[in-house]
Amino acid sequence: MKEFKRYLLTAALPYANGPVHIGHLAGCYLPADIYARYLRARKRDVKFVCGSDEHGVPITIRAMKEGITPQEVVDKYHAIIKHSFEEMGISFDIYSRTSNKVHHTTAADFFTNLYEKGLFEEKETEQYYDEEKKTFLADRYIVGTCPVCGNQNAYGDQCERCGSSLSPEQLINPKSTLSDAVPVKKRTKHWYFPLQKYEPYLKQWILEEHKEWKNNVYGQCKSWLDNGLQPRAMTRDSNWGVKVPLPDAEGKVLYVWFDAPIGYISATKELTENWSDYWCSNDTKLVHFIGKDNIVFHCIIFPAMLHAHGGFVLPENVPANEFLNIEGDKVSTSRNWAVWVDKYLEDFPGQQDVLRYVLCANAPETKDNDFTWKDFQDRNNSELVAIFGNFVNRTFVLMHKLCNGKVPKLHEDVMDNADRRLFEEISETKARIEDLLEQFKFRDALFEVIDLSRKGNKYMQDKQPWIVAKETGSDGKPVEQAQQKIDNTLHLCLQLTANLAIFINPFLPFTAQKMLHMMKVVDKILDWENAGKAKLLSTGYSLRAPELLFRKIDDEEVKSQVGKLGNKMQEGKAQVAGKVQVPVNNETDKKMNDTRSTDEPVNKATIQYDDFAKLDLKVGTILSAEKVEKADKLLKLEVDMGSEKRTIVSGIALHFAPDEIVGKQVVVVANLAPRKMRGIESNGMILMAEDKSGKLHFVSPGQQIDEGSGVS
Ligand SMILES: [Zn+2]
Repeated sequence: MKEFKRYLLTAALPYANGPVHIGHLAGCYLPADIYARYLRARKRDVKFVCGSDEHGVPITIRAMKEGITPQEVVDKYHAIIKHSFEEMGISFDIYSRTSNKVHHTTAADFFTNLYEKGLFEEKETEQYYDEEKKTFLADRYIVGTCPVCGNQNAYGDQCERCGSSLSPEQLINPKSTLSDAVPVKKRTKHWYFPLQKYEPYLKQWILEEHKEWKNNVYGQCKSWLDNGLQPRAMTRDSNWGVKVPLPDAEGKVLYVWFDAPIGYISATKELTENWSDYWCSNDTKLVHFIGKDNIVFHCIIFPAMLHAHGGFVLPENVPANEFLNIEGDKVSTSRNWAVWVDKYLEDFPGQQDVLRYVLCANAPETKDNDFTWKDFQDRNNSELVAIFGNFVNRTFVLMHKLCNGKVPKLHEDVMDNADRRLFEEISETKARIEDLLEQFKFRDALFEVIDLSRKGNKYMQDKQPWIVAKETGSDGKPVEQAQQKIDNTLHLCLQLTANLAIFINPFLPFTAQKMLHMMKVVDKILDWENAGKAKLLSTGYSLRAPELLFRKIDDEEVKSQVGKLGNKMQEGKAQVAGKVQVPVNNETDKKMNDTRSTDEPVNKATIQYDDFAKLDLKVGTILSAEKVEKADKLLKLEVDMGSEKRTIVSGIALHFAPDEIVGKQVVVVANLAPRKMRGIESNGMILMAEDKSGKLHFVSPGQQIDEGSGVS
């Protein structure tokens, strides 16, 4: 195998129009982080880069809908995403953003390089245009009647009712979703990158020279290459993005998939002045961590661009993961069928490692996998708590009880086969983990760590030092030989604990730190070269009292999380407004059509009066309001409805202090089915209006009227 002098790891740039969910973490950020931490522990020269992808049509559309600027959209989500990664311990060396100046310059220079080589083909085409909003429309932003089934809200690329794939020309009565205007065709010029010219090169490079790539990646590349590559437009009509650096290109920007991967280069430039060592030197191993929806961009288009430019290394591997479904269903941001990382961090403070563990143990490495809260609970309770945590805890408790809280001596003359075998297990495990991580088999590697702690438990159970301790002499203390056996068992279990800290560190770094604290040793011990050593903790060294590494997760917590799925009205402004959306990693090719990231129709479908009449809207007066424990967005309200009093839980705590809303008259959806939130049954929903800044306002009668009055 080729030896590399340095490593450059990239993780897909998340799209800055929504927070990240656990599908994103499992797809690429967590595996990339584990690999980065492992390489650092091995003292390799590694740079781990990422940043927010802040260009593209979905961001301008979002800005238009919310009445804010695209910059405000990306500022908001860049901050949320960056914070989520930091909290989860994703250890980027830099988390940059593509709206930075260095990126604009780098991307524009890259384009200029290809342009000056005469590589682009200029083409004029006709595209749909919204004259009112003065913008070209991607297919998804045109709706009309489906010619197949008559659905009045079919999209320009697909009818979601009958599944027909459509083009905007086929729609009856097409209109722009931005303005309701009838779209017109308009001529526009773009620069196309002739991918087909690089087909022979890519075939040789991937299909012949990279047969070791994961099957899912290799297979997808092969199918793209077998089907033949087409020229692809590398520019778009928009004012938001990297301006096309040509004189006749007013109102045109680089295609987001042209500029985004160049973001890896820009981020490295920001990180170190020696950036070219990482990008332009053949002894660098470049690895792109991505989800499967990005394979074509990272294995075909970007490498073709790098090759056409010249002077850059190409990725050595692209270990893309498949998708993570949630409770048996695909992630859908518009239905809020997702587990948001920022919400997880609020609900499970200090338990980052539990999520890291479950997402790695169940990673969609070879096929789509399913995340369920039950499995989350089971893995936590029966693996982290009952196996790994239990071994470490028992070792510490017994060491304090039977060995005065100090690392006991190893009496080599009374060592038996089981003692010696335990140490062989450690070095065998080390070799297997290394082998698996080099192949990007993170699940299997993590399994090895847990399996080693399972062997530790078994060893302890067989040795039963608490029974041996009963072989006492007349002084009530264990006889000498018994004490020697106890010493050996706990000495070895403690050395195993130190080794487990090294092994678990890339996966569960917060847990490794807790273990260091208990062992009173410094970070240095986590260096990978220490793994497999038998004398990491010195004899006679006193250790701290045990602290629990993990806690049990109970049924109520699981129920509460399951209840949040698909539930948009529950917590916080974002969900109240139904606006939180990110490119769902289950939808193919988020940026290829420049549209897929918004799967919510802008206007809701027309309804009949009968539908409206089903709502029982009533005026009520808020009698009392209090914060709901452990939910910083929820208020528990008592509302006087005239003939009755209702308890309603409302996601408005970030907008109103409890005492400022007592006495307020509000409109209540009175016949909404009751639902439990945080153990409180909520009976009804309070109508809120949201202004452009995102602030919520009550919908109230103009003057005080009787409680229970109907609204229609
Ligand atoms: Zn249809």
